[in-house]
Amino acid sequence: MNRIYLDYAATTPVHPEVAEAMLPYFSESFGNPSAIYSYGQEAGSVIEKARANVAALIGAREDEIFFLSGGTEADNMALIGAAYANEDKGNHIITTSIEHHAILDTAKFLETKGFTVTRLNVDDQGLVKPSDVQQAITDKTIIISVMTANNELGTIQPIAKIAAIARKAGVLFHTDAVQAAGRIPIDVNEMGVDLLSLSAHKFYGPKGVGAIYIRKGTRLSPIIHGGGQERGRRSGTQNVAGIVGLGRAAELAKKEMAAEAERQEALRDKLIGGILDTIDHSYLNGHPQERLPNNVNISFDYVEGESMCLNLDLKGICVSTGSACSSSSTEPSHVLLALGMPPQQAHGSLRFTLGRLTTEEDIDSVLTELPPIVAKLRAMSPLLKSHS
Ligand code: PLP
Repeated sequence: MNRIYLDYAATTPVHPEVAEAMLPYFSESFGNPSAIYSYGQEAGSVIEKARANVAALIGAREDEIFFLSGGTEADNMALIGAAYANEDKGNHIITTSIEHHAILDTAKFLETKGFTVTRLNVDDQGLVKPSDVQQAITDKTIIISVMTANNELGTIQPIAKIAAIARKAGVLFHTDAVQAAGRIPIDVNEMGVDLLSLSAHKFYGPKGVGAIYIRKGTRLSPIIHGGGQERGRRSGTQNVAGIVGLGRAAELAKKEMAAEAERQEALRDKLIGGILDTIDHSYLNGHPQERLPNNVNISFDYVEGESMCLNLDLKGICVSTGSACSSSSTEPSHVLLALGMPPQQAHGSLRFTLGRLTTEEDIDSVLTELPPIVAKLRAMSPLLKSHS
């Protein structure tokens, strides 16, 4: 059976050119980048080339990019590193209720260490209000973290406006751009951020490698201590092949982003329109315009997301019922609940995320397969009987 993968927000396949670029760094060029002989220098120089490519993707300086193990570590480093480095200034952190668990759980951890956390609510389309950020700031606030684009809803936040408020108040600003980097244009100076997280496997690079952008002069404690690699910001022998892959993925994303975004947006809109037109009691979640070009998130009344997902899987179609990390849990998504959605409706939601291998035929297949699945499940569903 031809499989149709529509879960590119969870992860993406490594681009063939990325895999090719990485290969030599597992075998013939295996040197430790910290070594001073030529093997080591070779590895060191490809890391610097990758750093330049990642910097170019987000409009940063090369010496503001630090490699680490991915989005989760970057988010931990931003919050914990900023909290510990700025304890003398205060102990208050501001974030939102729709962040990824890499931020939410790190904030929860910091609460056990004496920090206090304000979690801002969002509106029913997932947008954070800049005025709420302004109001939440106190003289103890040391960092504000708001994601660039939400992994479940695709909603894109007004980051430049929020970051400007943080800067005016003299508070550090971090954004988790894991879903946005490589998909939409990002410029750290236009956005005015101090810290930014990104992860290679969300844009056709390998898993287990990412980067944090740290604006020059930002006070941030390391969270991993040791050999002093990455100029002391992040110790541990670098993942050379992974970093080469991240660099090449960043280079390709910069080149292909505009055309891919336009192509995927057209397919996204066809999928949204097709579902809403053919399936009664279905609703688009997230913002209709301020939205990632590849994200479709829809709630269906009177039907369970898990059942739709499994039935689509039987037809070879892979989608998600929320974030990948929570797909094994039966709790409704914290993001959908934060929109004010009743738990029942949140349970009946699907996320389709498109990517560079998604074709119009794939979208047509979903539009053919999904309506009868929903109809069949609704006919079987006790939820339908209690609501109709
Ligand atoms: N932040 C967001 C918004 C994400 O979507 C993800 C991954 O799903 C992460 C952080 C974690 O990134 P990683 O898988 O590289 O640890």
